[in-house]
Amino acid sequence: MFYESTRGRPRQVSAAEAIKLGLAPDGGLFVPQEIPQFPLARLNDMRDWNYQARAAAILSEFLTDYSTAEIEQCVYAAYNQNTFDAPTIAPVHPLSDKLNILELWHGPTCAFKDLALQILPHLLTKAAAKTGEPTTIVILVATSGDTGKAALAGFKNVPGTRIIVFYPEQGVSTMQQLQMVTQEGNNVSVIAVQGNFDDTQNGVKDTFADRELVYNLSQRNYRLSSANSINWGRLAPQIVYYFSAYLDLIQQGRVNWGEKINFVVPTGNFGNILAAYYALEMGLPVHKLICASNANNILTDFIQTGIYNRNRRFWKTISPSMDILISSNLERLLFHLNGRDPHKTGAWMTGLKDTGRYQVDVQTLASIKGFFWSGFADDEQTLTAIKEIFKEHRYVVDPHTGVGIRVYQQYLQATADPTPTVLVSTASPYKFNTSVIKAVLGSQAVRDKDEFQLLALLSELSNTEVPSGLQGLEQKKILHHKTVSQDQIKKEVENVLYNRT
Ligand SMILES: *Cc1c(COP(=O)(O)O)cnc(C)c1O
Repeated sequence: MFYESTRGRPRQVSAAEAIKLGLAPDGGLFVPQEIPQFPLARLNDMRDWNYQARAAAILSEFLTDYSTAEIEQCVYAAYNQNTFDAPTIAPVHPLSDKLNILELWHGPTCAFKDLALQILPHLLTKAAAKTGEPTTIVILVATSGDTGKAALAGFKNVPGTRIIVFYPEQGVSTMQQLQMVTQEGNNVSVIAVQGNFDDTQNGVKDTFADRELVYNLSQRNYRLSSANSINWGRLAPQIVYYFSAYLDLIQQGRVNWGEKINFVVPTGNFGNILAAYYALEMGLPVHKLICASNANNILTDFIQTGIYNRNRRFWKTISPSMDILISSNLERLLFHLNGRDPHKTGAWMTGLKDTGRYQVDVQTLASIKGFFWSGFADDEQTLTAIKEIFKEHRYVVDPHTGVGIRVYQQYLQATADPTPTVLVSTASPYKFNTSVIKAVLGSQAVRDKDEFQLLALLSELSNTEVPSGLQGLEQKKILHHKTVSQDQIKKEVENVLYNRT
């Protein structure tokens, strides 16, 4: 199986090449040349398999230049009892008659990005070896919080890699900062940047774009790479949990064999829900994919009108990982649904870059509407949804999942669809404890309490244990102290790699 760019060049590369490169040289994203079919009969054989075996089977369909043994090594290194605190890795929690919650936050950093970032380092180092790249891969990350920690947890101590994370000094929560500055590992660096997330991201982008620096690094056997969500090596592992959730529902007797189900996915960059689309195209019985946005409802409008317009206000919400106006992975969906036309796709993306806007043709819009339904929830509606779910089921959800709950309610009102549904829960409520406690107990309950008191309160409220990744953070040693300005980021990368620190 080969991969091609959504913008036409190169015409084909192997999976290892696509993962190593991340982004295609023409600026497009890598997509599989055809979507492998996974017949129900084959799925049936996997009913009793564990998550790791299911993952190996699905990933083998896409990563055909990796051997079975290599894929198994990657899968077991990523998903095990040291990395995940649920034996089944991605458990399905039955909430009500028709609604089930897919808990994707049992990994080391308590958010769904762990499902991809725990395995990416292994896929990437194998890709480098396969494509004859004898260098050390240096992962550079600019983070607004979640991705940085998940990437650190994934890459720590992985041979052949270094990881350097830059975060805005004023732009992350106390909890997120503590998670990062206490990160252990022999190949990790964490550096604060004076300024906000945009300053940090611009500094990191300048580093990638500095040809002289890139050349000098290559002379010393370093190759810069990124771990962001447009890499195929992050997308493919996400397809697995949609299949796995279906098999779990069959096993639990909640769904009949072959019966279709819906997925509700809280969406930002469109990576998670795109993985659900691939699962559907492979043959998983799916009725509707429900795209849930927060007040940054650019995708809701797009799916309804076919017009993508980022010339609008940017809202900072209580579901910050969905505060996004450019959903990069949408480009892949457009390519698949517009007849795999790289010129059309490229023209739309140029429109987005130049004018902040594009409009897809009628046929493409019709096929998007065939697969997707969309809705959004503002902060107030999200807090209400969290409160209602807690009152009714004694189950606590985080604000991203709360957005999904609210949008699912809208969907039911609009369609009365009786199809069994899985809501993809993208973060642990502990990660967003302030908003969650505010929602359930009111704002007076969070007044004068620090992060750790809030963790304890949430534990009591939900009758669950504080996840190990967040436990004892206040006693952990701070290992990373450095702060730099935006224009020192490049220099700092050299300092780290040349051991000048
Ligand atoms: C990243 C993230 C999302 C958005 O996922 P996309 O793949 O970007 O659509 C939603 N919820 C949480 C908690 C996240 O960290």
